[in-house]
Amino acid sequence: MIDAFFWFEAGYCTMYDRFARRDGAWQRVRFPAAVGLMHHATRGWILFDTGYHPRFFEETRRWPYRLMRYATKVYVQPHETASAQLMAAGIDIASIRHVLLSHVHTDHVAGVADFKNSTLWLHRHAFENVLELEGWAAVKQGVVPALMETGWKERAEVFESANAHSHAIFGYCWDMFGDGSIEVVSLNGHARGQVGALFTFEGQTILLAADAAWNTVEIETLTMPPFPGNLVIHDKQAYLKTLRNLNAWKQQDPEAALIPTHCMRAFNQFQRPLHVV
Ligand SMILES: [Zn+2]
Repeated sequence: MIDAFFWFEAGYCTMYDRFARRDGAWQRVRFPAAVGLMHHATRGWILFDTGYHPRFFEETRRWPYRLMRYATKVYVQPHETASAQLMAAGIDIASIRHVLLSHVHTDHVAGVADFKNSTLWLHRHAFENVLELEGWAAVKQGVVPALMETGWKERAEVFESANAHSHAIFGYCWDMFGDGSIEVVSLNGHARGQVGALFTFEGQTILLAADAAWNTVEIETLTMPPFPGNLVIHDKQAYLKTLRNLNAWKQQDPEAALIPTHCMRAFNQFQRPLHVV
């Protein structure tokens, strides 16, 4: 039922490799802010996360949000945003009705305001993070609430625990459109209420795993980032549990594509640049 899928970069940041991997080098490496675009036969286009946007620089001018600029070095030009790339590919962004947000960190929601006609799908805990946090409390959770434009709340479709069904590996799971085309699975740990998207495209099972791991190696070796990279992890126990779940899931289906948003290895392997449609 998913008849098109693209995986492309909407800006990126750099961070010391050593912060993300125990045996990483003391040099800055690129973390693509990757974005997914799926096409559903009857629901149309579905965007998975929205990447970076120059709005990030506007909304982090003031303290304490300015701190976000120092944690990672962000690079994004106006023509590199998800919306600019969609338009360049001939896709009318006003026609995009669904944006699935894995979590509400800046590199996943900075482009939200460009998709004004979309329902914003997100987990209850991610929804509450934006709604309830401000100032230092928000920065500590990696959230800049102003990046979600006014009116986002009314457009939100919230994944509630009460409406979830059970997934054999991931526990909580939501059937996004009630037709099995996109299953949203709980990938809790990195951020409150983080979710991933599970679907089949051209016979291959694909799991967009957001920031459940920064590197695929974490899933293979069941190791989380060292200090200070681990400071951003919301719940370390849950993070490890999610790594184990992803590892088990991949072993069950070795041919499946497991794609963490910022993993350069996965990006090189699975990127599917947008082309004119
Ligand atoms: Zn994140």
